[in-house]
Amino acid sequence: MDKFFHSVYLREELCSGCINCIKRCPTEAIRVRNGKACITKEFCIDCGECVRTCQNHAKKIQRDSIECLKDYEYTVALPAPSLYSQFNNVTDVNIILTAILELGFNDVYEVAAAAEIVSAATKEYVDIHRENWPYISTACPSVVRLIRVRFPNLIEHLLPINPPVEIAAIFARRAAMRKTGLPSEKIGIIFLSPCSSKITYVKAPLGIEKTEIDCAIGISDVYSLILANMKQAAQTTKILSNAGRIGVGWGKGGGEALALETDAYLAADGIENVIRVLEDLEDEKLSGLRYIELDACSGGCVGGVLNVENPFIAQTKLKKINESLPIRYISEHRKISDRDLFWDVDVVYEPVFELGDNFIEGAALMTQVQEIYQKFPKLDCGICGAPTCKALAEDIVKGNANEHACIHILKDQIHKLSMDATSFANDTVINEDSVYGYVQTLKEYINEIAVLDSHLNHDVD
Ligand code: SF4
Ligand code: SF4
Repeated sequence: MDKFFHSVYLREELCSGCINCIKRCPTEAIRVRNGKACITKEFCIDCGECVRTCQNHAKKIQRDSIECLKDYEYTVALPAPSLYSQFNNVTDVNIILTAILELGFNDVYEVAAAAEIVSAATKEYVDIHRENWPYISTACPSVVRLIRVRFPNLIEHLLPINPPVEIAAIFARRAAMRKTGLPSEKIGIIFLSPCSSKITYVKAPLGIEKTEIDCAIGISDVYSLILANMKQAAQTTKILSNAGRIGVGWGKGGGEALALETDAYLAADGIENVIRVLEDLEDEKLSGLRYIELDACSGGCVGGVLNVENPFIAQTKLKKINESLPIRYISEHRKISDRDLFWDVDVVYEPVFELGDNFIEGAALMTQVQEIYQKFPKLDCGICGAPTCKALAEDIVKGNANEHACIHILKDQIHKLSMDATSFANDTVINEDSVYGYVQTLKEYINEIAVLDSHLNHDVD
């Protein structure tokens, strides 16, 4: 498994090199080089911000299609809690679940039902294991990936419990095997995902060796199909829902922490807010907390880039649905074994942002970065293809760019060249003796202009 696998990728032919995405990427993973965006895979956390930002739709999310159902004899859909918030006037989530069955699935298992198990288990775990307070929720894979590459001191605070979608997959597979007698490989466990981050989890999970989820389809890919089935489903509704208010509440920011029945929690959503909270936690500015819920998307999972509804409207809809649901979770988690519940692989720090192989080398390279940075105008204009002047200075030190990528430095050099050439032409007396040297010097100026021109066209040495 590629530990830096990503679901987010670039369709190069659609990219105009407009540099909008480089400014939005929270990990500064994107550069525009030779007129096209490129993602540094070690930095990317699959948050989907660039997918949202790109007006040319050049950033895409690699995922499965509904056709994947054909690969299995028996299929179970795992709808994310935020799916319920995508539809208007939902009076009974069983209608949505029945409409999902009509897509060709044999059964559904709500991720929200598993979320209730995870809520109860988390509450117990956090109460007992006080040594690493505050625990950081691990339900958002982008947050785990961000901590893995940027916050090594916070890794020990990660809650080592599998996310609800994994628990749902484990239970769904076992139930399907019992019901059908089929072997595991003939059963397809298929997640209806709200975001790129969770798609990446399915293809390259952190915290566990292997996921029980076989495929991940974007909610936006099946939304209109489910909607089309809902009228009929309202007439033939099957009772399929097991989830209560606690589990469905996971679909929006703060819902997860609320289920822990403590005031000693903090919940933040939106990747920039998440980073601020993690920085404050690292700087020991936060105290007295037991639990921190962090969601990379604004509004929580309702804001996932593969959802279709405005996240703020979706939050209101989910709240409304929740009012009609019962509270049921407390004893459910007793049914799950530790083996199913907990991570079986440690998340390990990946020092991808560090310069050099050791402290001394890193310090020397940082000095170089500072020296180069001082030459730049510090406008962070992005024209060089890097998100900030500092990022360009780092790229230069790593050998991935040169100073001429900075249009302001280039402009100064062109001006100097023009002044030098003018004074040379004015000051030089041309006669039979000097003509050879005169032509040679002119050739040198022409060569320099050609080099500057190639830099203007964003060529990288
Ligand atoms: S936003 Fe990024 S990916 Fe989209 S066209 Fe602009 S540079 Fe290319
Ligand atoms: S998915 Fe997020 S982290 Fe990855 S390149 Fe896009 S904005 Fe950056």
